Amino acid sequence: MSAALNMTATASRAEEERLDALLRYDVLDTPPEPAFTRIAELVRLIFGVETSIVSLMDAHRQWYKAAQGTPRNENARDIAFCNTVVMTGQSLVVPDASRDDRFCDNPLVTVDSGVRFYAGVPLTTDDGHNIGTICAVDSQPRQFSDRELKILHELARFVMSELELRRLATTDGLTGLSTRRAFKEDAQKFIALARRHRSQLSAVAFDVDKFKAVNDTYGHAAGDVVLKAVSEAAQVALRESDLLGRIGGEEFAIVLPDADSASAMAVAEKLRHAIAQLRFPHSRPPMTVTASFGVASFDPGQDDYDSLMLKADEALYEAKRSGRNISIPWRGTTAATTRQIERRRVLKAGKLVFNDRHSVIDCTVRALWDKGAEVQLSNSADVPDVLALEIPSSNFKWDARVEIRRPTSLELSFA
Ligand code: GH3
Ligand code: MG
Ligand code: MG
Repeated sequence: MSAALNMTATASRAEEERLDALLRYDVLDTPPEPAFTRIAELVRLIFGVETSIVSLMDAHRQWYKAAQGTPRNENARDIAFCNTVVMTGQSLVVPDASRDDRFCDNPLVTVDSGVRFYAGVPLTTDDGHNIGTICAVDSQPRQFSDRELKILHELARFVMSELELRRLATTDGLTGLSTRRAFKEDAQKFIALARRHRSQLSAVAFDVDKFKAVNDTYGHAAGDVVLKAVSEAAQVALRESDLLGRIGGEEFAIVLPDADSASAMAVAEKLRHAIAQLRFPHSRPPMTVTASFGVASFDPGQDDYDSLMLKADEALYEAKRSGRNISIPWRGTTAATTRQIERRRVLKAGKLVFNDRHSVIDCTVRALWDKGAEVQLSNSADVPDVLALEIPSSNFKWDARVEIRRPTSLELSFA
C-alpha cells in the first residue's frame, strides 16, 4: 500500500474512533438545554461577539447543541471552520478570515456580512477524541488574546463536564425516569432473573405520536409538560416492580416481569387510554396527545436485551404504520430471524453514490443491519431512489434502494 493510501486508512480509522466516542454521549439531535445555552451566552457576553456556538461534529454536518446569534442549528461540515479545529485537535484563532489564505474563499466568508473573526477550541474527551467545538464568531475582524483563549478553553472543559454528567446519569432530568443507559442495565438484570427462574417477561416500547407537531404548535416548553405528564401517567399505570425508562426524546420503554404477551398488551392498552385522556387546561387550542405501543415477550432460547427491545420496536413501528394510537404485539416468526435483521445503532461516515459515480453526497450512517441502513444527510431531495452506499472506514459498499424518504434522512434497503 502506498504511503498516501496508508495515511488515508489511518485517518479514516481515527475518524471512526472519533465518531464512536461521539456516539457514547448520545447527544446528537437532542433538544436545547439551559446549561449549554448559558455557556453559549457567556461566550457572547465575555468576548462581545455576535455569535457563539457549542457544536458536535457528526460525520457529514456540524450540529449545534447551543447557539446564540444565529438561527441555524447545523451547518455543512466541509466548510465549517470548526471542522479544522476537530481535525487538528488544536484551537484556531482567525482575526480576519478575508485576509487569511485558508479561509478567504470559504462561502461562510464571501457571503454578505460573512465571517471575519473566528476563535474555536475543541471539545475533547478524556480519551483524547475531539467530538466538537465551542467557538466565538463575528462579522468584524478582531484580535483574541492568550487570556481570552484560555477562557474559551475553560468553557470547553465546562461543556465536556456537562456532557459527561449526562452520559453517566441514571435518571433523566426532565421526567425523573431512568435514562436509556440505566434502563438497559436494570432490564438486563430482570432478563437474567427471568432466565434463571424460567419466568415470563415482556417489554413494551412506546412513542408519543406526532410530537414534533406538539412542539411546533404549542412550543418546546409545552412539549416538556407533555413529556412529564406522559411519564407520570405511565408511573401511575405501572406496578412498583415494573421498570420504566425514557430511552429517547419522546420514546419510552417498559419491562414487565412475570407478564406474558397478553397481560403486557393489557398494560399497554391501559396506558394508551390514560395518555389519550390527559388534558392540559391552559392550552389553546385544547391540546391532546396519543402514543403508539409495541409489545414483545422474552423468549429465553433466543432473546437478549437487544433482541427483545428490537422486537418491541418493530411492533411499535408497525403501530405507527397502521395509523398510530394503537398497541400491537410483535408478530415475527422466530427471534432467529430478528437476530439476522438486528439493527445496530452506529455513527459512521458514509457516502451516497449515484449518477454513474458523478454524484457523491456525504452522509452519516445511524443504523445498520444486514438488509439495510438508515442514513442522515443535509437534504434528501436530490437523491434518486436507486444508489450505492459506501462506508469507507470499513471498505463496505452496497447497491441500495430508498425505502423511506424523510427531509434529512433515508431508510435504505440493500439490493
Ligand atoms: P411519530 O408519530 O412518527 O413518532 O412523529 P413524531 O413527530 O413524534 O416523531 P419525530 O421523531 O419526528 O419527532 C420527535 C420530536 O420530539 C422531535 C424532537 O425535537 C422532540 N423532542 C425530543 N425530546 C424532547 C424534549 O425533551 N422536549 C421537547 N419539548 N421535545 C422533544
Ligand atoms: Mg413520536
Ligand atoms: Mg420518536
